[in-house]
Amino acid sequence: MDDATTTLFGLPGLRVIDVHHLDDGTRIVDVVTDDDGARVCPHCGVASTSRKGTAITRPKDLPYGDDRIMVRWNKSRWRCRETGCDRATFTEAIEQIPARARVTGRLRSRIGAAIGDAARSVAEVAAGFGVSWPTAHQAFIDHADALMTEPAPVRVLGIDETRRGKPRWQRCPATGKWVRVDPWDTGFVDLGGSQGLLGQTEGRTAAAVVAWLEAQPPAFRAGVEYVAIDPAGVYAKAVRTQGLLPNATLVVDRFHLVKLANDAVTQVRRKVTWELKDRRGGKADPEWANRKRLLTARERLSDKSFARMWNAMIDEDPSHRILMAYIAKEELRRLLETVEAGGDPHLVRHRLHRFFLWCADSQIPELVTLATTVDTWWPQINAFLETGITNAGTEGYNRLVKAVKRSACGFRNTENSRRRIRFHCTRRQRAAAHQFSC
Ligand SMILES: [Zn+2]
Repeated sequence: MDDATTTLFGLPGLRVIDVHHLDDGTRIVDVVTDDDGARVCPHCGVASTSRKGTAITRPKDLPYGDDRIMVRWNKSRWRCRETGCDRATFTEAIEQIPARARVTGRLRSRIGAAIGDAARSVAEVAAGFGVSWPTAHQAFIDHADALMTEPAPVRVLGIDETRRGKPRWQRCPATGKWVRVDPWDTGFVDLGGSQGLLGQTEGRTAAAVVAWLEAQPPAFRAGVEYVAIDPAGVYAKAVRTQGLLPNATLVVDRFHLVKLANDAVTQVRRKVTWELKDRRGGKADPEWANRKRLLTARERLSDKSFARMWNAMIDEDPSHRILMAYIAKEELRRLLETVEAGGDPHLVRHRLHRFFLWCADSQIPELVTLATTVDTWWPQINAFLETGITNAGTEGYNRLVKAVKRSACGFRNTENSRRRIRFHCTRRQRAAAHQFSC
C-alpha cells in the first residue's frame, strides 16, 4: 500500500498495509505499527529490541464513507530485557490506542462530543457508533472533565434546591426498615456573573452545603460577597457557619419571595375548593381553570383576561379568600419593585405596612405565615434588592436542569446526573468564550 492510503486513513502511529471488502460491504483495513515509541516498555521506559510475537486487535474507529470499517491492527509483543524491570512482556500501544483501549482516541472524542455538545442520549450515541454504553459514557466523562474547569470566584452565590425525582420508599440495607427517600439536591449558582451552575451536592441539609463550600479554595470562599437563599430553606444556618464565607452577607432574593407568595395563593385556592366541594379541583372549577392567571403578574394579564379571572373568583368563592391571597401576592410584588427601583424610604415603609396589614386582617393562616416570613427576613430582603442584582440566573438554571433531565431519560446515577447538568449549564458560557478567542 502506498503512503496515500495511510495519509487518507490518518491515524498517527499506524500504517495501512491493505484494504479489502467483505461481501456485506464492510471494509477491512489492515494496519501495522509505525511508531518507534510503541515498543518502549511502559514500566521502565526503555525501548525493546526483542520481539516475542504478534497479536491482532480490532479497535473501533470512526466510520468512513457509507460502509462499515473494521480496523485490524497487527501489532507486536515485546520482551523487556532491562535488568531491574519486572515487566516481562508488553504489547504495543500508541497515543490514539493506549494499552487495553478498544476504541481509538478520535472515536472517543467524537462520541464524547456527540453526547456532551449535541445533548444526545448515551444509549443512542453508543448504538450509533457500535460501542457499549459504558464506553460511550466514559468518553463523555473525559470530554466533560477536559472542558469543565473549577469555578472562578463569584460575587453573588445563589444556593437553591432542586428535586432529583419523586419521593419513594426504600428498604434500609442495615436495619431492614422502610424509609422515605426525598431526593433533593442543592445547586450552587453564580448569580452575579455568567458561570451558571457551579456545582451540585446531594441532599438539602446544612451539612451538605457546608461540605461543598469547605471543599472550595479559600480564595473562592473569601470572594463571595452575597449569598442568596430561599427564606424557608435550611441554608441560612450553613451560610452562617463561622469562618466559612468570611465576607458574605446573607440575602433573600425576589424570586424566592414571589415564589412563596405564589405558593400561598395556591394553598388557599386548594383549601377553598376542598371546603366548597369536598374534593380536589378540576377542569370544571373556575378557580382551577384560572390557577395560572392567579399566579401571573397583574401587568402581564390583559384587562379582559384579568376581569374574567376576577369575576369568576367573586362568583365562585363567597369568602373571597382566593382573591385576598391574590391581592397579598400583588402587594408584595409592588413592594419589592418599589425597593428595587430605589424608591423613597417613606413609600417603602408605607407599602410594607400595607402588605402586613392586609395579611393580618385577612385572618388567612397562609397569608399570616407569608407576612411573618417577610417580616423576619426583611433586612436580608432589603439588603439584596438595594444591590440591584437580579437572580435571573437561578430561574434559568432550574429550567435548564429540567430540560437536561428530560433529554437524558432519567438518571439512575446521581454523579452522572450532576456532571451532565453542570456541563450543560456551563456550555453556553464556554461557547461565548470560544468565540472571543478565535
Ligand atoms: Zn521494562
